[in-house]
Amino acid sequence: MDSPKRFKDSNETKYTFADRFLVECPRCKKQCIDSTAGGGADLFLPRKVTCSNCGFSERWQSNTVYTGNEHDWYFLLPLWLQTACCGERLYAFNEKHLEFLERYIEAEHREQVPNVNKSTISRLPIWIKNPKNRENLLKAIATMRARQQGRTVTPMAIRRHISNQS
Ligand SMILES: [Zn+2]
Repeated sequence: MDSPKRFKDSNETKYTFADRFLVECPRCKKQCIDSTAGGGADLFLPRKVTCSNCGFSERWQSNTVYTGNEHDWYFLLPLWLQTACCGERLYAFNEKHLEFLERYIEAEHREQVPNVNKSTISRLPIWIKNPKNRENLLKAIATMRARQQGRTVTPMAIRRHISNQS
């Protein structure tokens, strides 16, 4: 028998995931990457955003970081991994962040580190914590994963596929 899925809060903060952002290229609108040169976690390390599709590239070095959910913190480009869910918007900075959210959302047992109020989990909005939204949230995660892998899942595309078969 499968034991219920568990999630243990290991006190990740949103800064844990800020070393790398998948964002929308301002030139060609495809996925590009904002990261530190060596993948370090220091918030103020020099950054670079590069697009492997069109060659767009920009550097960042500054003393000010603009934290937020719908864009990366350096070039302020829209996050690639975002989708509508439960009347809200679900965001992930990168693959690791997406995987982290998925593990949390699908877990039936969620253990939280006591007396920690800065972890990503303790700061998640209530609609993400609500088990009633689990199914919709997992669908949103699947949509984001498909987008990360360069595939698109939309009701329209699925209808087209079915009509092609008839
Ligand atoms: Zn591009």
